[in-house]
Amino acid sequence: MKISAVRGMRDILPEETPLWQHLEAEIRTAFGLYGFRELRTPLVEEAQLFSRGVGEATDVVHKEMYVFQDKKGLPLALRPEATASVVRAYIEHGLYAKGGLAKLYYLGPMFRYEKPQKGRSRQFHQYGVEALGSLDPALDAEVIDLSSYLMERLGLAREGLFLRVNSIGCKGDRVRYREALREHLEPRRDELCPDCQRRLSENPMRILDCKREGCQPAIRTAPRSIDHLCPDCRAHFQEVLSHLDLLGIQYELDHTLVRGLDYYTRTVFELCSRDLGAQDALLGGGRYDDLVELLGGPPTPGVGFAGGMERLVLVLQGQLKKTEKLDVYIVPVGQEREVWRTAAWAASRLRRAGLSADVEYLGRSVRKATQAAAQLARCALFLGPEELAQGQATLKDLSSGKTVPLPLEKLSSPDELHPFFEPEENGDVKGGCGGGQG
Ligand code: AMP
Repeated sequence: MKISAVRGMRDILPEETPLWQHLEAEIRTAFGLYGFRELRTPLVEEAQLFSRGVGEATDVVHKEMYVFQDKKGLPLALRPEATASVVRAYIEHGLYAKGGLAKLYYLGPMFRYEKPQKGRSRQFHQYGVEALGSLDPALDAEVIDLSSYLMERLGLAREGLFLRVNSIGCKGDRVRYREALREHLEPRRDELCPDCQRRLSENPMRILDCKREGCQPAIRTAPRSIDHLCPDCRAHFQEVLSHLDLLGIQYELDHTLVRGLDYYTRTVFELCSRDLGAQDALLGGGRYDDLVELLGGPPTPGVGFAGGMERLVLVLQGQLKKTEKLDVYIVPVGQEREVWRTAAWAASRLRRAGLSADVEYLGRSVRKATQAAAQLARCALFLGPEELAQGQATLKDLSSGKTVPLPLEKLSSPDELHPFFEPEENGDVKGGCGGGQG
């Protein structure tokens, strides 16, 4: 019986991993430049972390979370997002006691039982930052600036991106705003889709990000959260916007942006791509000033964002890097066992000298093996019985076709070996194998 990967979860194949590795390295560098340090949390948490932290009534927890019991009956969940985990770790390890601002980042798989489609899968990967311990609006702008800087580093054109921002205020503001929304929406109940009718009593703010055509007229005329902010929240939002102006970051005020997780307060934002279709958010985030306290820590404000790796891969696929070629592919000539043994030894030496190498293990003819080598490597090293008797092998540059003898003793001395692989000044190859990568 053939077993496939679980629906909505997929393998990332060796052709794709160079792009993933490149993105991960750029993300780590960008996060590091802004002072964030990596935190790795488990993939499995107690389910109540998310029902309390993210919100029982949110789609993420209510509909999409993978929940199961361990052998003792403890309800566990595959993490659907990482902010709650980061906050749990922050509290558990008393990171607040160290004083100062905790700037943490993570990268890794998340799990949500959603309907798989382009840009939406059940196992997906997020990169994200969390800054815990400061209410300064400059920090909201800093994490937005970081998201924008990251896209610049990755070479995503500004024209293809747009930033949506909004403020949903503090707890008190939201109580008043929800009431205003209900007052506006209740008389229009019949125009709303069944999901939104349910949301009307549970969580009317979520109606604002419904994409169904029928709900749009009611949404377009709905009251705006920024008109229901208390003076502190209004001043905070004004300051965030002035910082964005100062940093030269363009944004659209989007009054329908509320985000799907309950912990958000005040600033919320999404950075979207025009190339992504329906699932256009590359990343999203905002403030969560009540979450640490809600999860049992001391009152501590926080702000952060999370982005989807798969969506970055979708918009950057054009830049897919060619798989890096090996430095050397070793082709034993003939059947003599001694030749094959020497090939294995040579591969081991080359690798220790920092040169990537592989051996023709499939026993193909020299012609076929050379063809394979041309696909896989920049040089071929031919080892035949006569050459072996003379203590040497033949190194061939597979792009220029130039060959040179390589004394086997050089394999034991990295310093003497390397010149064979360096380009000469005229661009030609010195020892036979200096041609460019790829
Ligand atoms: P969220 O945690 O829902 O705020 O999502 C943050 C970002 O994660 C989104 O902007 C997407 O880029 C990505 N994302 C969320 N859910 C999925 C999913 N099911 N599949 C792929 N990417 C996702």
